[in-house]
Amino acid sequence: MRLIAIDLDGTLLNTESQISAENRAAIKKALISDCIVTICTGRATFDVKALLNDLDIPIIAANGGTVHDFNYKLLSRTLMDKEAGKKAAQYLTDHQIYFEVYTDDALLSPYDGEQKLEAELDIVTSANPNEDRDTLWQGALTQFKQFGIKPVPDIREVFNGDEHIYKLLCFSFDMEKLKLGLTSSGRHIIEILPDESGKGRALKELARHYGIEKKDIYAIGDSPNDLSMFEEAGHRVAMGNAINELKHISTFITKSNDENGVAYFINKLLENEYQ
Ligand code: CA
Repeated sequence: MRLIAIDLDGTLLNTESQISAENRAAIKKALISDCIVTICTGRATFDVKALLNDLDIPIIAANGGTVHDFNYKLLSRTLMDKEAGKKAAQYLTDHQIYFEVYTDDALLSPYDGEQKLEAELDIVTSANPNEDRDTLWQGALTQFKQFGIKPVPDIREVFNGDEHIYKLLCFSFDMEKLKLGLTSSGRHIIEILPDESGKGRALKELARHYGIEKKDIYAIGDSPNDLSMFEEAGHRVAMGNAINELKHISTFITKSNDENGVAYFINKLLENEYQ
């Protein structure tokens, strides 16, 4: 039995945030070919469920915050410390950095988040005329299109309640604001998590659950938050659009996310053309 762990944004999803028919077909083929396929993403579980549609596979979400099996049964959860979260939320509010809070059923986002980000983008693009405003704004819109996004008047309030909190996601066009030295899933994004090993730790846990050894684990990713997942996998597949850090330690470089890189690799694997 082999375990294939696939990141979502920049990996399984194309730039329109969709799973192509080719990628979907390749996953289905892997599932009937003695493989377990799991999604390993920074997105929230309910968001992943909506994207997967009829594909019932295990899901590692919120960068390892939750692990669900084939039947959508929760195998484990790693929560963020409320006090640490509260401090981070206060810091981000004080520094006017847009952020979201991931809970069990929603992605809390401030009411005025979209407006504030747009104002920030205006400042950044007027200072850097070479930046393409539309492309940058597309990146922000991806955030607001996530399934389960819920605007609230004061996002800090959630830390006073008893909801489960998995992570904080910060988004800013002002790169200076993001120099907090934390894990990144994209150019304008940083995430504040309960522990840095996130995806890797959860993948190891899922592999143990199904009795799969490291040599039979295949991880596919593109971003810095996939590094921990690569450490737990015997086979490391970097997307054509991946960061160099991942490409350097990869065992295979596949095509880009807009060229069905996931399907390209899976088909090679199933046809014994890998290695
Ligand atoms: Ca990614």
